[in-house]
Amino acid sequence: MAGPSKNAKSDIALTPKRKRTFIETWKTQFPWVRGVDDIMFCEVCREYPSIADHNSKLYEGVTGSKRIETLQSHESSKYHLLCIQRKEVTEKGTGPMFVALKKQAENMDDQLKPMFNTAFYVAKQKLPFRSFEGLVELQEKNGIKMLTQYRNDKGCKAFVQAIAEVEKDRVSEDLKTSRFFALMGDGSTDISVTEQENVYVRYVKDGLPTTEFIDIMAVKSADANGVLAALLEALHHVDRTDGDIKKKIIACTFDGASVNQGAREELL
Ligand SMILES: [Zn+2]
Repeated sequence: MAGPSKNAKSDIALTPKRKRTFIETWKTQFPWVRGVDDIMFCEVCREYPSIADHNSKLYEGVTGSKRIETLQSHESSKYHLLCIQRKEVTEKGTGPMFVALKKQAENMDDQLKPMFNTAFYVAKQKLPFRSFEGLVELQEKNGIKMLTQYRNDKGCKAFVQAIAEVEKDRVSEDLKTSRFFALMGDGSTDISVTEQENVYVRYVKDGLPTTEFIDIMAVKSADANGVLAALLEALHHVDRTDGDIKKKIIACTFDGASVNQGAREELL
């Protein structure tokens, strides 16, 4: 800053008419340059202060004489080029780096889809997650490009959980927009003889009755209070508040298990 200002002062003092001002046509040759309120600066470098060279004249802004040589040397400076590259990547989508990243993302998308489909098949067919790896290898042998990572039971679990989250979000959104819904529940015991409650909701979507499974809940105590707590928790999992439940729930259906008969007063 000290250099150009001093020069500017002496320029003005000696030959006031020769103070060089910003020339609008420079913007054609150097599309990044701006001249605002007698300050010439590089718009792109200022846009990326974390990359730009803060000591660069055109980052600080030239207030004295404006010379084309300043623009020419700035154009080829390292940090200016980095800023230009960043701008291309983030905005125009034409820079070489952007193209490479986009291609990588597309490949990833193409390979993720069959991985998701395979995990869905495993879950739908009630196969063990361990079968995932073999199914992935089989498809690859048949010429389908599969992702190189996540090819094990843990990967399968992650895919299934992701699918479940999306499905839950969908039901949650449906229930949010529905004026009413009904609840259905049925008890069961799993392999470890833990009491569980399967929870379903029934509502109208696009004029048609729809039934959706929302959760399978472990019942802490196999009495009316325990079942009620499990049902409410399942509804909380699809983002229903207690107030929302009271306002919208219009029917509850359970089988004739003794706990349900005893629970009726508690639930309704
Ligand atoms: Zn610049």
